Amino acid sequence: MRFSIEEGGTMGRKIKIWYDREGCIGAAACAAADPKNWIMNDDGKADLVGGKKEGDNWIKIYEMDEADWDAVKEGAEACPVAVIKIYDEKGNQLA
Ligand code: SF4
Repeated sequence: MRFSIEEGGTMGRKIKIWYDREGCIGAAACAAADPKNWIMNDDGKADLVGGKKEGDNWIKIYEMDEADWDAVKEGAEACPVAVIKIYDEKGNQLA
């Protein structure tokens, strides 16, 4: 589902990327799909570029360009163990 349709555009809208790094198995699908947000670390797990640790997880909140949405969504949905989730400002899960 593209939230741009219902919400009147993604340009300049804040999204939250949520990441459970403990659960990452190093498949690298996220980094392939969305290299702006994901990079593989030497320990074999993905790092969330610009992310901050919050409790046991990592998060990143930023204003996303419309053009980046497909990659952001695919980066989350490509993860085989579903440790990446995307939320809008209201906490609705987008991917
Ligand atoms: S796709 Fe999922 S399991 Fe693979 S590196 Fe990214 S976060 Fe880790």
